[in-house]
Amino acid sequence: FLQLRTPDRCFKIVLCGDSGVGKSSFLERFCQNTFNEKTQVTIEIGFQMKSLVIDSTVISLQIWDTAGQERFRSLPHSYFRKADGVVLLYDITCEKSFQSVTSWLVNIQEVDIDQSAVIILIGNKEDLATTQRVISTECGKRLAEDCGAFFIETSAKTGHNIFETFDYMARTLQTRE
Ligand code: GDP
Repeated sequence: FLQLRTPDRCFKIVLCGDSGVGKSSFLERFCQNTFNEKTQVTIEIGFQMKSLVIDSTVISLQIWDTAGQERFRSLPHSYFRKADGVVLLYDITCEKSFQSVTSWLVNIQEVDIDQSAVIILIGNKEDLATTQRVISTECGKRLAEDCGAFFIETSAKTGHNIFETFDYMARTLQTRE
């Protein structure tokens, strides 16, 4: 039914964050509802489409994944161009990925992203919280507040808060002019 109905609105969402934080897994969980322990690193940038119904409006999300490009150099400007939303991930078990958040934000600003773009900061791998967490929820929240982003902890492995992330994104974009 969703596939047959023309979307009422379409938004471009980009994923970013250090290699290994779980971007591909996050997208795979949302689009296919599956999880693989070892996701293969591909070299091409690509996107996946997924539709959501928010208050009887069909919203189509075009979600871009870096597919490993971030390991070699910063992402091309075209990656962020005309993005309506940015999902910036770090891994709650990896300090370095959290420290990188600031440089990712600088990176985003440098490409002149639309000031009204919705930014969501994600602390991923929440399923490892009891055994391997190094970044507290508080630290994540504080950083998100400082940069005007929404904050949420997720797990691509269990599916925790993955749908909620995109639901929040779609609702926020939908209510915006
Ligand atoms: P990317 O480089 O940011 O795209 O990260 P990947 O999606 O390739 O994930 C890197 C590794 O972390 C893979 O081995 C994944 O299986 C694993 N991973 C991703 N998300 C989670 C998660 O939520 N929990 C756990 N435990 N592992 C995860």
